[in-house]
Amino acid sequence: MQFHENGFQPGDPSISDPRQRVMAPPLKQPLPERADVLIVGCGPAGLMLAAYLSQISNLSVCIVDQKDDRLLVGQADGIACRTMELFQSFGFAEEVEREAYGVNEAVFWRPGEHGIERRGRIHDVEDDLSEFPHVIINQARVHDHFLRVMEQGVNPIQPFYGRKMLDLVRDDSQDYPVEVRFEKTPNFLPQAQIETVRAKYVVGCDGARSRVRSAIGRELKGDALNQAWGVMDVLANTDFPDVRFKAAIQSKDQGNMLIIPREGGYMFRVYIELDKLAENERIDREVMTVDRLVEAANRILSPYSLDVKEVAWWSVYEIGQRLTTAFDDSNNEIDPRVLLAGDACHTHSPKAGQGLNTSVNDTWNLAWKLAHVLKGYAPKSLIRSYSEERQKIAKILIDFDREWAAMFSAKPKSEDNPDGVDPAAFQAYFQKFSHFTAGVGIQYEQGPWIGSDTHQNLAKGLLVGKRFHTSIVTRMADAKPVQLGHVHKADGAWRVYVFASDALPMSDECQVKSLCEYLDQHPESAVLRSREGLESDALVDLRVVFQQSHDQFEWPSLHPRLRPSKGRFGLRDYEKVFCSPVRWGQDIYQMRGIDRSGCIVIVRPDQYVSDILPLGDFQGLEDRFSQALLGAPSDK
Ligand SMILES: Cc1cc2nc3c(=O)[nH]c(=O)nc-3n(C[C@H](O)[C@H](O)[C@H](O)COP(=O)(O)OP(=O)(O)OC[C@H]3O[C@@H](n4cnc5c(N)ncnc54)[C@H](O)[C@@H]3O)c2cc1C
Repeated sequence: MQFHENGFQPGDPSISDPRQRVMAPPLKQPLPERADVLIVGCGPAGLMLAAYLSQISNLSVCIVDQKDDRLLVGQADGIACRTMELFQSFGFAEEVEREAYGVNEAVFWRPGEHGIERRGRIHDVEDDLSEFPHVIINQARVHDHFLRVMEQGVNPIQPFYGRKMLDLVRDDSQDYPVEVRFEKTPNFLPQAQIETVRAKYVVGCDGARSRVRSAIGRELKGDALNQAWGVMDVLANTDFPDVRFKAAIQSKDQGNMLIIPREGGYMFRVYIELDKLAENERIDREVMTVDRLVEAANRILSPYSLDVKEVAWWSVYEIGQRLTTAFDDSNNEIDPRVLLAGDACHTHSPKAGQGLNTSVNDTWNLAWKLAHVLKGYAPKSLIRSYSEERQKIAKILIDFDREWAAMFSAKPKSEDNPDGVDPAAFQAYFQKFSHFTAGVGIQYEQGPWIGSDTHQNLAKGLLVGKRFHTSIVTRMADAKPVQLGHVHKADGAWRVYVFASDALPMSDECQVKSLCEYLDQHPESAVLRSREGLESDALVDLRVVFQQSHDQFEWPSLHPRLRPSKGRFGLRDYEKVFCSPVRWGQDIYQMRGIDRSGCIVIVRPDQYVSDILPLGDFQGLEDRFSQALLGAPSDK
C-alpha cells in the first residue's frame, strides 16, 4: 500500500478521503462506581488488556485516560514478530501487515574515508522464526485496532477520557478493595470534579511517570544516566541509498542515528542521539527544535543529504534504563490487587524497538490470569505469577538495552580510537539478540503454570515455557492448509494439542481414541471440570493432529469429543481435527521435532507451552489441570 504522498494524514489509509477517517468523539459519561478491573492508561499496555477482557463475558471493565481522545500520531512504531502473533489472535494481524512497512534487511553504516559508508547488511528476521514479519507502523493505528476489538467484543468496552488518576487506597475488608480517585481534566470539564471508582483489581498502564506506581510505593530504579533522543517522522527526499532499509548509522564525530522506514512507502523515521543528561535534568524544549534535528541528521548523513518536505511528528524522547523491583503491590501476607504494566514498570531506549512490544506482552501475560481468577477458574495466587514472570523478562530487556545502547553510542574502533566498538561486534550483538528482540526468545521458568522439561524430547521444537511455535497442518474436514497455532484466539482458553502416533485414527491402537474414552469415563476430570454453563471447549480446547492424510479416514468415524456440538442448535464443530501431511513443505512433526510416537502439548491461554506429556499420560494431563484450575468458583 502506498499513501501519504501528499502529506501525512492520520487514521485508516484504506479510506481515501481523510475526512471520512475521523472517528466519533468519545462519550462523556460518568465513570462507573464499581469495576472488576480498572485500567489506568490507554497506551498499548492498557488497550491490550481491555481488548483481551472484552472477549470474556460478564466482567465489568473500566479503562480511563487523562487524554481527551485517542492517539493520532507518534510514539513507538516497531511491531515485533511475536506481537504480530498476538494481533493475529485478535484477528487484525493481516490488516496491520498489509498497511505496515515490513522490515526485511538491516544495514550498518560506519565512518569511511569520505563520510559514512555501508559496512554490513543482515536479514532482519531469520527464517521460520515466526509466520509473521517484523513490521513498522504508527502506534496510533495499533491503538485503533485494539479500540475496534474492544467495541466489538462479547463484553464491549469504551474508554473514559479526560480523567486524571489522583490516588488510590486499598482496603481488603471490602469486596471491591481498591478505591481510586480521578479528577476531570479542564478540557473535559472546566471546574475540577472528583470521581471515585472501586475495583477488585487496578492495573496501572499509565506510562513512565505512573501515579499508580507511586501510589503503591514502587519506584523505577536504574541507571542514573539518562539519554535523550530526537525523533521525527518525515516526508523527505534524500540521495542516501538505504532510506527504505532499517539503517544504523555511526558517523565519525557527528553522532549516531537510526533510520526506520515507515508505512505508506514515502515516510521514514529518524532517531538522532542527543547528549547524555544528568540525573533529573530534562532537555530544554525551547532550545531543541525540529530545524536543529534536521541539521543534525544532515551532518551525520554527510556526504548524503536530507531535504525535508514535511515533519509529520517529532519529539524529544528521554529515557533511562529503569525497572521496578516488583510489578504489583503484594507482599508475603497479601495477594496482588494493584498491578503495573508497560512503561509504568520498565523504561529503556527506543533503539531496539521494544517499548510497545514489551508493554503489550506484559498485559497479554496478565489478562488471562485476571480473567481466570475473576471467573473463579483459578486461585488468586495465579496473579502473583504475573510479576514473577514479567519482571524477569523486563530485567533481561534492560540489561540488553544497556549494552546495546552503549555500543550504539560508542565511537567506532579505528586507529585513532582503539578502544571504540568494532563494527563487526556491533552487528554480531544485534544478531545474537534477534530472537529476544523479535519477542520469541521469551521463556518462562518452571512453576505452578509451567511444567518441567522431562518430556521435552517428545517435541524438541516446542520448548516448555516458550510460546507455541506454529506450523502448517491440513484441516481434516475440508483439506484447508492452516496454521495450527492460529486456532488459539485471545479468548482465555487453554489448548491441548494431541499429536497422534501413526496408528490408524480411531483404531483400537489409537491413543487419541483412548483419551476421548478416558474423558467420557471420567466426567469429573480436571480437564473438563470447570466448564459448567460454558461451551465444551471454552476453557480447555482439545485439538488433534493425525499423521494420516485427510482422505485416509472418514470424519463421522471420529469420536464425538473430536466433533463436539456447539451453539443453540447443537451444530457440529468441524475444526478440531487436523492432518500433518501438507501439500507444500514439511509437516509439523518434522518442523517442530515431534516424536512420531506422539505426545500431548498443553498450552496456556497466553500461548506459552505449559507442559509436554507422553501420549498415554492421561494422569499427567489430569495433574496439570488439577494444579492450574479450581473445581468451583469459590476462591474469588
Ligand atoms: C512522547 C513519547 C514519545 C515516544 N517515542 C517513542 C519512540 O520514538 N519509539 C519508541 O519505541 N517508543 C517511544 N515511546 C515509548 C512507547 O510509546 C511506549 O514504550 C509505549 O507506548 C508504552 O506503552 P504504555 O501503554 O506502557 O504507556 P504509554 O503509551 O505511555 O501510555 C500511558 C497512558 O497513560 C495515560 N496516563 C498517564 N498518567 C495518567 C493519569 N494520572 N491518569 C490517567 N491517565 C494517565 C497517558 O495519557 C497515556 O495515554 C514514546 C513515548 C512517549 C510518551
